Amino acid sequence: MASDNLEITSIKEGGSLSVKDLDVSYFMGSKNLLPACKNVQFDTKYGESVGILGESGAGKSTVAYAVMGLIEPPNVATGQIIYGGKNVLAMSQQELRHFRWNEVAMIFQAAMNSLDPIATVGKNMDELILDKGVVHSKHEARQLSIKLLTTVDLSEEVYKMYPFELSGGMKQRVIISMALATNPKILILDEPTTALDTITQFSVLSTIKSLKSEGRVGGLLLISHDISVQAFMVDRIMIMLKGLVVEDAPVKVVMENAKHPYTQVLTEKLKIDSSKKSAASPTAASPMNGCPFANYCPYAMSRCWDEVPPLITIADKHRVACFLFGG
Ligand code: SF4
Repeated sequence: MASDNLEITSIKEGGSLSVKDLDVSYFMGSKNLLPACKNVQFDTKYGESVGILGESGAGKSTVAYAVMGLIEPPNVATGQIIYGGKNVLAMSQQELRHFRWNEVAMIFQAAMNSLDPIATVGKNMDELILDKGVVHSKHEARQLSIKLLTTVDLSEEVYKMYPFELSGGMKQRVIISMALATNPKILILDEPTTALDTITQFSVLSTIKSLKSEGRVGGLLLISHDISVQAFMVDRIMIMLKGLVVEDAPVKVVMENAKHPYTQVLTEKLKIDSSKKSAASPTAASPMNGCPFANYCPYAMSRCWDEVPPLITIADKHRVACFLFGG
């Protein structure tokens, strides 16, 4: 049985991030750098769940990797990611080691496949807990592992099982419980339920939501291409396209009153013929030279291929990057 003296602490404060002018480029060899995101700016505060929505290649995961301090040379990350008064991009390796897991934990895409298949779930969990220094004895690690499993609605018996004996949903719950072991203030989830069927997906997401409302984590950053998952999970959605944030608004505004034409397409408020590019398009728009939606936008004007529209505030908590707004 799990001991009562190993408490999983509720997060009462912290978990605020301030991302400013974040640019990330990946090294492609021969001094070539491929921009993956440009001029990303956002703040999150304690208790907030923020979604980053976009298609594959939009730069969502890149932002998450940068927040974790995982963009390393020869790749380049510039700008600021302020957490607890410090810039993550300027942290030493020692500071980063503390920051990752203890302050911010990330569940990577397909993380459930990372469990060691020849070790029991318990061994997988105990080793991580001991490695991170959460507790210092095998006995305490076992107690905490069992407690964490029950926190994500798994039975104690799972501790003795092997990963191949678990369904995909159970494996993902194990991964979530492991991410909670260090009491992170922010939990970053990168496509956490993509490999699961719809019913399991929403069951796992409901558990994550409960953990959040119970204060097990102070803030959530959810990376997902699925707008229904985002709408279910977060308070606010940032929409990215080709490395740029094109809209950022509370969920209700995004779903009912989005302003950016791309967001309107995602929420089915605007129909476009995606097989055709606009006749006005001289070339395929580069995300860094013009509006990333210019080739498909029914409202595109000539400047849309020449200038990147700035992300401007058009209402309380609502930012949009489109020349149709802001004069
Ligand atoms: Fe369309 Fe131009 Fe607005 Fe981009 S900036 S969404 S191309 S109108």
